[in-house]
Amino acid sequence: MGMQKGYDLRQVRRQYYLIAGSIAVLLLGACGGRSPEPAPTLEATAPPATAAPTPTSEPQPTPTETAITQSPICSPLAGHEIATLLSLYLTQPFIPPQGANKETGHHGLDFAYYSGGPTGGHINGTPIQSMLDGVVAGMGYNAVYGYYLIIETPFVLLPAELAEHYEAGADESLYMLYGHMQAAAPFAIGDVLACGQVVGQVGDSGSQQFTSDPHLHIETRVGAAGVRLAEMAYYTADVTEAQTAEYLRWRTSDEFRLMDPTILLVYTLRE
Ligand SMILES: [Zn+2]
Repeated sequence: MGMQKGYDLRQVRRQYYLIAGSIAVLLLGACGGRSPEPAPTLEATAPPATAAPTPTSEPQPTPTETAITQSPICSPLAGHEIATLLSLYLTQPFIPPQGANKETGHHGLDFAYYSGGPTGGHINGTPIQSMLDGVVAGMGYNAVYGYYLIIETPFVLLPAELAEHYEAGADESLYMLYGHMQAAAPFAIGDVLACGQVVGQVGDSGSQQFTSDPHLHIETRVGAAGVRLAEMAYYTADVTEAQTAEYLRWRTSDEFRLMDPTILLVYTLRE
């Protein structure tokens, strides 16, 4: 079902506006660069709690709160319509893990070709865009993902309907990984990114055991807000224990719930 929630909706909405406000401050600071002050942290910019809404009416956001906008949803491939990704570009679907081994299956979606007409073909080198506003939560290189980037988007920045689809709590975030980029992402952990911002180019980095033709692999997981991941790696002889632990934390631990990225793309197709 997924409709019964163990928390009060009013509380959720209140939290939404409060947290979204602090995220918006972060994003505005990152885009404008107008402020001479250092970028504020989430903790520092969280507005003070205000009085609860009157119980006699539906809680309405104040004018200040309504200025906060949710994240748009952008195509991960620059110049390519998000609405046609599933129909014209998908080369490998999401396959959930089979049985007890959580490493099996295909944990994301692959896009390698545009098959929609005479202008179709490889998308090698196409700029990869962040699909959502968010914060860099992880990045690095390994055999499985090649050069990868993980961007965290708190569910408070996403439509409530989408959070329902993910069965996500108000204090959770959507973590989206972009893999096989041509080069290391030019960012650092904690950098704030905007929807549509270019984060790399479609490539075939990583072991040829896991990638062949250049393609974009996107992967989504849900976890507690604010998680930051150190570089993760696995399956090669040179990986460290720390890299292995971080890889398993992302891939198979209970800290993250693997989700089908199709959920987000299908949501953009709603009327
Ligand atoms: Zn893939």
